[in-house]
Amino acid sequence: MTEIKRFILDNQLGKVFENKSFRDYTTIKVGGKIHLVYMPNTIENFLRFYEYFQKFNYPIFIIGFGSNVLASDCDFQGVVVTFRDLDVLYFRLGNKVKAYPGCSVVRLAYDSAKSGYSGAEFLSGIPATVGGAVYMNAGANGGEIKDILVKAKLLSNDEIKVYDNTELSFGYRKSRLQSENSILLEADFEFINESESGMALRKIIELKKLRRKNQPIEKLCAGCTFHNPPGLYAWQLIDRIGFRGYQINQAQVSIKHSNFLINNGNARSDDMIQLIKLIKEKVKERFDIDLECEWILVNFEQNF
Ligand SMILES: Cc1cc2nc3c(=O)[nH]c(=O)nc-3n(C[C@H](O)[C@H](O)[C@H](O)COP(=O)(O)OP(=O)(O)OC[C@H]3O[C@@H](n4cnc5c(N)ncnc54)[C@H](O)[C@@H]3O)c2cc1C
Repeated sequence: MTEIKRFILDNQLGKVFENKSFRDYTTIKVGGKIHLVYMPNTIENFLRFYEYFQKFNYPIFIIGFGSNVLASDCDFQGVVVTFRDLDVLYFRLGNKVKAYPGCSVVRLAYDSAKSGYSGAEFLSGIPATVGGAVYMNAGANGGEIKDILVKAKLLSNDEIKVYDNTELSFGYRKSRLQSENSILLEADFEFINESESGMALRKIIELKKLRRKNQPIEKLCAGCTFHNPPGLYAWQLIDRIGFRGYQINQAQVSIKHSNFLINNGNARSDDMIQLIKLIKEKVKERFDIDLECEWILVNFEQNF
């Protein structure tokens, strides 16, 4: 790891930190130590690092704002890369935007609305980077990232290729990036002229209010914990097994929205996992439904 750190610093490829924790890089603020965190300053420099990194046998994990990630309590003996510190996060040409992976989608939504374009409003309450949002096909209030993405440049199996929207295998919180373990390097979006001046901004304000009312955004959380089974809502199933507010140590089912599991301050990852397992068990017992976890679980030996 010392060699990798030296390579990054000697070649001015960005910032590097040792002995950080997943608590520092996730919105739910749980998880173990991270050996090395690398924050590239440009995509070109990330690619130089990536090429060099291939000769080592360490794991790598790309993190956005960590708003959908639960890491185990164990130390991560590898490198976590975050693109939040890129020199350029996006640029706009009229209704077209080229965005880089660390760009906040909330910023995209606001800036587009302020420039008189519509289409990105649904993103305004999702605490995501462009990388994480495309990877997850993030969505809310009837919109999904797939509705506004034109094409994406990916690094997959050591090859860089541009894919059109239709080639990205988007589904409900699914994308080609997941099945091929790809890294998003660049994404092109297209918006439409708003039909009435100020309409997009008004929509954003309205959606923000709704979110504040319905979601525990003031708590430490990682978004919805379970996928909604076809035709059903996971929160309703959790309510029906009587788990709204249920707590294991500092891990709790939110009282405001029972598909949000929250960290009341000092939760361990293991507490969150015990709660997930118990909910799945009870839902299976009562309704014969297998709830599928939406969170991305990192550094666990098994899947839950
Ligand atoms: C309060 C709250 C509300 C939320 N509301 C919603 C909602 O309404 N709708 C919704 O869909 N989600 C929601 N989420 C979940 C979360 O915000 C989304 O899943 C989001 O897309 C995650 O983005 P991120 O940048 O934080 O990615 P992370 O959580 O950091 O990572 C998620 C996955 O993306 C991968 N990834 C990140 N960047 C890249 C990259 N450049 N290349 C390849 N892979 C990458 C990571 O490796 C990881 O596997 C919410 C979360 C919170 C905390």
